[in-house]
Amino acid sequence: MIKQIWFGIVVIILMQSCVRDKLIQYPESMPYVYDVLIDAGHGGDDSGAQSQSVLEKDLMLSLSQKLKKALEHEGYRVYCTRSNDESIKLNERIAKMDSIEARLFISLHTNFSKDGNDNGINLYIRNQQQSGPAAEAIQKELTQASLMHFNKIEETSHFKILNTPFPSVMLNLGYLSNESDLFILRNEEQQTVLAQNISKAVKSYFQLHN
Ligand SMILES: [Zn+2]
Repeated sequence: MIKQIWFGIVVIILMQSCVRDKLIQYPESMPYVYDVLIDAGHGGDDSGAQSQSVLEKDLMLSLSQKLKKALEHEGYRVYCTRSNDESIKLNERIAKMDSIEARLFISLHTNFSKDGNDNGINLYIRNQQQSGPAAEAIQKELTQASLMHFNKIEETSHFKILNTPFPSVMLNLGYLSNESDLFILRNEEQQTVLAQNISKAVKSYFQLHN
């Protein structure tokens, strides 16, 4: 009988500690833990690419908010390096990122070319082993969605911001200098579709690789 009581007490203590572990989502040693870290390129004085009155910084801010919403709808925790039209220097962006633990970093940009025929999506990574699977998941989803042409995944050490301890990609979404890309990028509904496609890709990446 005494044995049974002790057994009961041990079970209750174990159950309580399990419940407690479930409730605590953020260990004290790591106060900021996110699934996805979104970086809307440029901001403030830095407009990025420009086509007439359309500015890369505004489009990417708008897209980043839509992507955040789509990912949060799927239950992911999302952090953005900026959520308004503020100027953030590269070293400030990197410092912000260094204070955060994430499973994936996505930097959002768009392109511009003197040749109006240049179009489509280019995706950059710094390290194939670390970021290749995420890049390929995004390539697969955006190719299937065929909203814009998917050009390539390129491994390059050119972008310092991609030097993260977790997988990171830079998406250059279309060309402001191309008429059909510009139409998609500045259209709110098309932006939402694009954000949903990226969110879908993130979901399938996490399902396969975490
Ligand atoms: Zn840019």
